[in-house]
Amino acid sequence: MQISVYLYALIACSGLTLSALENGSDAPALLLVSFDGFRADYLNKYSLPNLEKFFSDGVLVRELTNVFTTKTFPNHYSLVTGLYAESHGMLASIMYDPVSKKHFSIQNDSDPFWWDEAIPIWVSVEENGYRAAAAMWPGTDVNIHNHTLKYTFKYNSKVSFQARLRNLTQWMTEDKSVKFAALYWEEPDWSGHRYGPDNTTEMGNALKEVDSHIGFLMDHLNKTGLWGKINVIITSDHGMTQCSPERLIELDKCISAGSYTVVDLTPVAAIIPLEDNSTVYKNLSTCHEHMKVYLKNDVPDRLHYKNNERIQPIILVADEGWTIVKHGNLPRLGDHGYDNMLPSMHPFLAAHGPAFRKGYKMSSFNSVDLYPLMCHLVGISPKANNGSFARVRCALVNEQCGELALAVGIVIGVLIILTTFTCLFKLMKNRDASSSRPFARLELDDDDADDEPLLE
Ligand code: AMP
Ligand code: ZN
Ligand code: ZN
Repeated sequence: MQISVYLYALIACSGLTLSALENGSDAPALLLVSFDGFRADYLNKYSLPNLEKFFSDGVLVRELTNVFTTKTFPNHYSLVTGLYAESHGMLASIMYDPVSKKHFSIQNDSDPFWWDEAIPIWVSVEENGYRAAAAMWPGTDVNIHNHTLKYTFKYNSKVSFQARLRNLTQWMTEDKSVKFAALYWEEPDWSGHRYGPDNTTEMGNALKEVDSHIGFLMDHLNKTGLWGKINVIITSDHGMTQCSPERLIELDKCISAGSYTVVDLTPVAAIIPLEDNSTVYKNLSTCHEHMKVYLKNDVPDRLHYKNNERIQPIILVADEGWTIVKHGNLPRLGDHGYDNMLPSMHPFLAAHGPAFRKGYKMSSFNSVDLYPLMCHLVGISPKANNGSFARVRCALVNEQCGELALAVGIVIGVLIILTTFTCLFKLMKNRDASSSRPFARLELDDDDADDEPLLE
């Protein structure tokens, strides 16, 4: 019995270790889709029948904790590297590097310099001898680590969702070495900025269109024979919150325009003082009760936003729904970029395919956890990252987790305790038996000794 228990424990442990990495060549391809700015609670507020159909036969993660700043490029790069922004270097929509004196913006993003601090999954996939394909995912049209994708497009927002998907599936069906494909779509971010997330009519229209794209995706994967064969993940980079002309923070009211340069403005401003650091900091820190002001080294650790040259000396963070301007009008009715603790900044995730459980729901995990999960799915070793495979394994059909793992642990624990007690009990019984035998013998011998003369 003892041997079988230990064997069972050994098999269970080795099973867990072996399952940590699928064999790459056998692993089905993975399609990763991002609908920009899809706030997690849109799922509760709007009718999304196709998305519901997608995850009813797969997995839904209601909320992802994403990374600070909750902007498009930082979060899309975190999803594919598993790193916080300070570690992958894609820190904001507009950046300045004080050493090289280079400038970055999302319209001027093709210099590898800005991307090379990390290795995205598509580069690792190709380094492992497979192919990756992409349609407009940020960074996929850049030569990262001396690596240009064969199957990619130059970014063009005018290319339809259908055309993006058709190209990807054509590459995936014609070239079986394509293991990873990434698709990016601009909505509902665009409508969220323009109308604000509280405009339920306009957001309802935008989400109806997004949902119809998900319907097209399922139909098209069915037609091309990929549905149910490949793993598909639908997610997003961040949420959206309502802004208002009543919630403006005007820097010109606090500080003279000539005393600083602003790199990126709202809702997180990156400030380079042109005068004495402490005077600029003092003027800004008393500027507005709805704006937090940090010297670079004092940015809270939980934001993971200080260990990088590209982070400027002073960082301003507006409270939810507040907009930082130098002066003038509100630029957008909806915005994102705020503290990543805010639920309104969180996106969702849904997954479908042979690797995923069916009809399984999870409340949340971190967006950086997606990277080790995706490496597992395509069967490659992850690079060093800030994510955790253990936190996401429950989504997978072949993984022991949660209550099941707990139940197995309890059974093994009880068996070990029972075995130990049985051994101790046997040991004590043997001791009792061996210590009582000499006494019995002696008694018997005595009797025998007494009896013998009687017999004679
Ligand atoms: P934002 O809302 O400022 O964080 O950025 C979203 C916008 O970025 C989208 O509306 C797109 O127009 C733009 N965008 C997304 N991907 C790319 C890309 N690969 N290259 C250039 N612009 C992009
Ligand atoms: Zn975005
Ligand atoms: Zn946006």
